[in-house]
Amino acid sequence: MQTLMRKPQWLRKKISLSDQKPMERLLAQGRVHTICEEAMCPNISECFSQKVATFMILGTVCTRACTFCAVSRGVPLVLNPHEPENVAKTVNHLGLRHVVITSSTRDDLSNGGAEYFCKTVRAIKALDDSITVELLIPDMKENLSALEQVANSGAEIIGHNLETVSRLYHVRKGSDYERSLRVLEKLTSLNPDIATKSGIMLGFGEGDEEILSLMQDLLDVECRYLSIGQYLSPSHKYEPVVEYVEPKRFEYLRDRGMEMGFTYIKSSPYARSSYMAHEYLEAK
Ligand code: SF4
Repeated sequence: MQTLMRKPQWLRKKISLSDQKPMERLLAQGRVHTICEEAMCPNISECFSQKVATFMILGTVCTRACTFCAVSRGVPLVLNPHEPENVAKTVNHLGLRHVVITSSTRDDLSNGGAEYFCKTVRAIKALDDSITVELLIPDMKENLSALEQVANSGAEIIGHNLETVSRLYHVRKGSDYERSLRVLEKLTSLNPDIATKSGIMLGFGEGDEEILSLMQDLLDVECRYLSIGQYLSPSHKYEPVVEYVEPKRFEYLRDRGMEMGFTYIKSSPYARSSYMAHEYLEAK
């Protein structure tokens, strides 16, 4: 059995269940799911107390089996045709000005769920077209028609996470580093007006040179937004943390990346791809 490493001081974040409760009730009433809850995000108290959430569409069960991810896996749920409107109403109710929509990976769906991403963007913009939308998509098996749909959905930013360096892709079962890069490349070529974004986690045992090489790979496919955060193992059943990376290394990587040509990098132990997501657009 894996022994969990003791967290260093800089990773002790306050969790307040009472701060989260009002938001949890509101989300349940709206019949919507969030990755914040499904992936056990460590920022949940902070984000929920500020009435910020990242919505998860296409159900809560994933068809892949990344060894770091707490989202349920197995036989996926039947799609809820009301989901796009439910998300839009909740976004409007919360008064969000920028919203991130993500999903589980749905390899069982012929278009990977692209249609639902588009319906959700349209439903949000139909209620208030000044809301900016960010989609954080799975690789959709690089299906060109699916990527074409999301690239032209009306979303301002489309993210697809590399998660880690190429050498450590055993933690991303069913995924492929080169394919993920091609997905980002195709999104830009299908719609040069959108910005693309990616996210990685540190703590699987990657080296700085590998991360700098990953950054160059992203820049080569015109991806200029990046989040870098610390991997935290949800429990002993998941991929172990090899290293708790010190804050100064996050700063070093951010500075190097900005010198290399990124437009914005959020790099800190608690950065997640959707954490403070409005900041990326502001830096555009
Ligand atoms: S960082 Fe993102 S996923 Fe985590 S709680 Fe905040 S909005 Fe949700």
